[in-house]
Amino acid sequence: MSRPKVLIVGGGFAGLACANSLDAERFAVTLVDRKADFEFLPNIHELLSGVKKPSQLRLSLRAAMRAVGHRFIRGDVTGIDPEARCVQLGTDKQLCADYLVIALGSADADYGVSGVGKHSYGFKSVAQCQAIHERLQGLSRKGGKVVIIGGGLEGVEALGEVLRRYRHKPLQLTLVEARHSLLPAAPAAVGEHLADHCREWDVSCITGDPVARITAKTVTLNSGRRLRSDLTVWTGGPVPPALLGESGLAKRNRWAAVDPTLAHSSYEHVFIAGDAAELEQPISKQAYHALDMGRCIAANIERLSKGKAPRRFKPSGKPTLLAFGDVDSVLISDRVCLAGPPLAAAKEAVFAAVMPQLDLRPARHRLESALGRSKQATQQLLWPTISNWRELRRQTKVQKLT
Ligand SMILES: Cc1cc2nc3c(=O)[nH]c(=O)nc-3n(C[C@H](O)[C@H](O)[C@H](O)COP(=O)(O)OP(=O)(O)OC[C@H]3O[C@@H](n4cnc5c(N)ncnc54)[C@H](O)[C@@H]3O)c2cc1C
Repeated sequence: MSRPKVLIVGGGFAGLACANSLDAERFAVTLVDRKADFEFLPNIHELLSGVKKPSQLRLSLRAAMRAVGHRFIRGDVTGIDPEARCVQLGTDKQLCADYLVIALGSADADYGVSGVGKHSYGFKSVAQCQAIHERLQGLSRKGGKVVIIGGGLEGVEALGEVLRRYRHKPLQLTLVEARHSLLPAAPAAVGEHLADHCREWDVSCITGDPVARITAKTVTLNSGRRLRSDLTVWTGGPVPPALLGESGLAKRNRWAAVDPTLAHSSYEHVFIAGDAAELEQPISKQAYHALDMGRCIAANIERLSKGKAPRRFKPSGKPTLLAFGDVDSVLISDRVCLAGPPLAAAKEAVFAAVMPQLDLRPARHRLESALGRSKQATQQLLWPTISNWRELRRQTKVQKLT
């Protein structure tokens, strides 16, 4: 009997988790992504300081799919026909399936600010963060001005990594946030705590004055204030990919609405996973939700194929872990916010635990990658701390913010 075809668009957290959870004996699975590699986005800030190397955050999608008996096609999906469950690859190739899983992730918001694409560095991929690292290396020798735009999780983590590696170099650092506090989505005490660190390390922190325009050497704010900049980093936050609206999966500039089982509300056997999906009660755009959604969809495809009813997706309430280089780390949960350098170990532990779950290649490859990850974590994250007594005392303090 022929196996039902499953087509997954997007090999990020959601798409890869879904593919890994489907049995190749039961389903003919094809994963499509425009990139050759899965990228572990929650830790890409560490590329800025060089604490992580690109190879540690990437996983070959072709090798990953081969390991579980699925097919990988590298290509840019330019159109989706959800009624027919087909996708258009470039101009000349179409793929169709019995089940379609859309896991496109999100695009980067530019809020219509001119010059974002041309004159600033994006912060949403391994290649972009590596490019920032290289520019920082050059600037740290001769000196220069660095402007990081966005005081949300991404911008704050970027600043922390710059401080980790370059705080004693002749760099002038500025962080700009459009709203009136850093980390505006978190309790006020977290933003105030981070603003204290900015003062301590001589970082100019500008809040409540959005960016109006970016040119090669300046960032102009709504107030008319102009900042000189030799390196401008843009962390805009997630917005829906245009393809969702263009293909009729969502209203223009909206996420795709799903029912509680993550099935699209209008099309049969079409599922939406990860950042691209919007539940009736929206949840944060986080990697751990994307992973759980991918697995839930795989289980539901399995159930549907056996004539069983699909199950509801139950989001788990995990805390957010924010790293601020080696200066501090913050844990934000519904009930409590904690701050202290030891929490950095928790973020590293999540990376070390999740990457092997996604990497199902033969044991030899996985062992090599895991050893590389732990050697690097010890050399660059742990050793500088335990070999320095004053640093160790500072690093073992955790305080309650709320
Ligand atoms: C800098 C940064 C820091 C973050 N920190 C954290 C954190 O600390 N904790 C946390 O939980 N989450 C964090 N997140 C959020 C987390 O990374 C996302 O929620 C997660 O990646 C979403 O998974 P996804 O599978 O939906 O999308 P993604 O992981 O973005 O994957 C989408 C995939 O689809 C592919 N794709 C897109 N369009 C097309 C197309 N047209 N054709 C072919 N392929 C396409 C992309 O190449 C990509 O591989 C962070 C994100 C960023 C950018």
